[in-house]
Amino acid sequence: MANQGNLEDLEIVSAPFLAVLNDLFSKYKSQREGTLANYIPELAKVNPELFSICIVTVDGQTYQVGDYQQQFTIQSISKVFAYGLALEDHGRDYVLTRVGVEPTGDAFNAIILDEKSKRPYNPMVNAGAIATTSLIKGSGATERLNRVLDMFRRYTGRDALVDISVFTSERSTGHRNRAIAHLMLNFGMIDQNIEEVLDLYFQQCAVIVNCQDLAMMAATLANKGVNPVTGEQAVESRHVKDILSVMYTCGMYNFSGEWAYTVGIPAKSGVCGGIIAVAPHKMGIGVFSPLLDVRGNSVRGVNVCEELSRRLGLHLFDCSGDTKF
Ligand code: GLU
Repeated sequence: MANQGNLEDLEIVSAPFLAVLNDLFSKYKSQREGTLANYIPELAKVNPELFSICIVTVDGQTYQVGDYQQQFTIQSISKVFAYGLALEDHGRDYVLTRVGVEPTGDAFNAIILDEKSKRPYNPMVNAGAIATTSLIKGSGATERLNRVLDMFRRYTGRDALVDISVFTSERSTGHRNRAIAHLMLNFGMIDQNIEEVLDLYFQQCAVIVNCQDLAMMAATLANKGVNPVTGEQAVESRHVKDILSVMYTCGMYNFSGEWAYTVGIPAKSGVCGGIIAVAPHKMGIGVFSPLLDVRGNSVRGVNVCEELSRRLGLHLFDCSGDTKF
């Protein structure tokens, strides 16, 4: 099966990685469909032409093409990592009482909770992500933010910073997220100061990354939670299975089912135009291109990942026998 590959197998195909990336880059560079996210005013100022693809293998090899050093804010991709921190802080049983693991089929910002349990459906939609962020421990707002930033540092291997313009832009316009947070307060799913929770959520979404960081973070999840370059354990390995499972079923907004069917590896996208995809035990993939489709996924990003999965044989359930490794 494709998911049984090991490092030796990887080496066989590693030389053509760059060729594949260059090929995909030229193929999709001219694609112009999609629109910039504009409900956060600062995001509407991004250059729509930007495009980069990066792969980091679990043995730390990096392959990249395009604007891979261009910085942008991580947005929803942060939800994956905040979920890992909440699992570490409270354990999975408690976290499950506050946030479910059920795909919704609704938009990421739907103002909706599970009828029966009153939990948000899953940690990859805004309601679940805000509930998850409220679980991050710390003796005050500063300590909580520092714990979040330190977590990002472990994954990327470099210090994390918040883009203050994007943070304040979302903070002053994020009324929908505020409504979601109040709904959860009403049902006892959040029991802290709402504004403080929202600030931390907006800050985690405004953490600055580049495409290489995305691939490194994905590669860390592919590598049992260990950053393949620094060797640092970014998240306890026992939580990686839970993180990847919700990414697989819920990570691509209301396109998650089709993504699982076609691309077949855990992934998460953000309205910044970034996508991370994790091929367990093999590699992490990062794509950045800010023009989004109607569901909020990067148009080029989805195309690139579909083709990368096919060409490198990454689909987890591909047992056709003609996969590359
Ligand atoms: N900060 C954004 C929000 O909460 C993230 C959304 C996303 O990337 O999907 O609306």
